[in-house]
Amino acid sequence: MTSIKSRPLILVGIDAAVATLTEKYLSEGSLPNFQQLIHRGAYTRATSLFPGVTPINWATICTGAYPGTHGITDFSVLDPGDPLNGGRDGFIRDTYQVESIWEAALRSGLKCATLDFPGADSRMHPNHLWIADRGSPAGVTKYALRNLSCLITPDLQLRDAEPMEKVNGKFQFKLNPVFQSGEGPLLTFEIRKDLQDSYGVSANIDNADEEFFLKENLMSRWLWGNFAINGQTHQASFRLELTHFDPDHSSFAIYISQITVPEFVTDPPEMGRYLVDTFGPFIGYDGARAVDRGWVTPDHMLNEGYYKALWQANTAKLLVQKHGYDLVLLKWHLIDHIQHSFWGGIDPLSPWFAQSDNEKCEDLIRNAYQAMDAMVGVLVPLLNEEVTLAVVSDHGHLPHLKAAALNNLLLKESLIQLLPGDLIPAQVDWPNTRAYGGPALGHIWINMKGRQPQGCVEADDYDNVRRKVILLLEELRDPETNQKIVERVMRRENSDGIGLWGERVGDIVYWMKPGYSGDFNWTPLSRDGEVLEDLIKEREGFAEYGEGKFIADKFQSVHGCGDPAARLGFGTEEAILAMAGPNIRSGSKLKDVPNLTCVTPTICASTDLPLPRQSEGVVLGPWIKK
Ligand SMILES: [Zn+2]
Repeated sequence: MTSIKSRPLILVGIDAAVATLTEKYLSEGSLPNFQQLIHRGAYTRATSLFPGVTPINWATICTGAYPGTHGITDFSVLDPGDPLNGGRDGFIRDTYQVESIWEAALRSGLKCATLDFPGADSRMHPNHLWIADRGSPAGVTKYALRNLSCLITPDLQLRDAEPMEKVNGKFQFKLNPVFQSGEGPLLTFEIRKDLQDSYGVSANIDNADEEFFLKENLMSRWLWGNFAINGQTHQASFRLELTHFDPDHSSFAIYISQITVPEFVTDPPEMGRYLVDTFGPFIGYDGARAVDRGWVTPDHMLNEGYYKALWQANTAKLLVQKHGYDLVLLKWHLIDHIQHSFWGGIDPLSPWFAQSDNEKCEDLIRNAYQAMDAMVGVLVPLLNEEVTLAVVSDHGHLPHLKAAALNNLLLKESLIQLLPGDLIPAQVDWPNTRAYGGPALGHIWINMKGRQPQGCVEADDYDNVRRKVILLLEELRDPETNQKIVERVMRRENSDGIGLWGERVGDIVYWMKPGYSGDFNWTPLSRDGEVLEDLIKEREGFAEYGEGKFIADKFQSVHGCGDPAARLGFGTEEAILAMAGPNIRSGSKLKDVPNLTCVTPTICASTDLPLPRQSEGVVLGPWIKK
């Protein structure tokens, strides 16, 4: 294979950087590095492809293709013949129907690295450096031994925290791995005073001579423990924080960061050790989990997200500067998590607004954008070395007003039938169910005989059933306003105008009015049959994504349920795109807002990287120097 010559490119993927907020913080002067990037290059808003959610739009960004072509329709993707409650992971290469920009580069002999980038779930080629993970916000895979966790003294109550055992006045916990089978170190904690006579907790790993002292609400330095996995000992890193230390100094909680093994973080493994030695241990934080459970404060989530931002940016810089990488793609997720959890505090339109601490939420969200700015700050100096830098987001956010459980609508009209019993999630009686929504947002399927495994709708009844569902959606109204809440309903054969075609598109495609969500996982099928849910009513219990329980109230902002150009309150569904580099014209403006299929063609036109085979988007011509 002969190598082509191209200019190095770094693509910084900022999940859910919202155009309105980015522009607000730019105009305040809060994003000086991003401002410098724009000053040296170009900036535009960009619309995502429907539904504007994470896997679809990163697939669009990195292939240049429309969803109908790349085949990623949501977190879960249905192929013909799949059961309607099934689905394939929308973040893995096997689900993609087309080539990505890094695959095109690899087949041309170039060196590529992917850092937590959707569609890159494993190493693909000797010239590919894979760095954790596959870009899914939903959690961890092979690089971590444990996700972030929390230990408590037996008298404390904290959701999902693990109690320690009290032995001779000390507290012990065997830190065994969760994602692999094996054995971890023994942690021992003891309440003590330090030399300044203030209380804290001393900690010890595996009864070593060395002890270290934890002070309340301060993260420890990085610690290392030995983990035995498959007959081999691996050193893994983590940090501890003393929290919930009661005034009597008798009970406490210990937060533990994600536990990772350097060699598991990359493929090839030796790069992981090198990067950890250079920049410190890797974490693929998921701070929302810890904040939801009250283990740590939101600032903590910000700090871990910030740490990952700098780790990723420094790694990208090193790979291009010292190791001759032609293409580095990274994706970073903090802004999406922070907005989902705290948008209500900044937007007067939000049902959460009056209940939240406005200033605190403003600071949290601004700080998350400033972490993005810090990443850009690491990379902007590379513009002096003929490197092209692209910063792009996959969608925006809107305030979340109300949630509709659309499968409950089908249940009320007997299009869905349930099996008896009160299991959660409600069990569908498939041979008697005629239509079903999901797994992808915006898609409803007719349970066709001969197509679905337990299909019951005959071919000559298809149009009837479909017409009935369409009418139900079109007539659905918010009783408070009497306004329709499903803004657009299409038959699958008419959805090509929004980029959806092919076998993976539902029989009916719909989108919601801005601010209303219609997500089948947030508001799943339930026996009560309630269709429109008030988000801030008091609810019992706590549910996780995928458990078949109501979780819409965990999302103060929403994206992807409706028009990719929608604007509402302080939000917009619109994403951002900025580029600078030797072949990017500085200061040029576009007449129209492009969609995200333009990213890969424009990158390739400005760097001479090869275009992926099925790329369909247009080059942003005014941005390219002749
Ligand atoms: Zn996203």
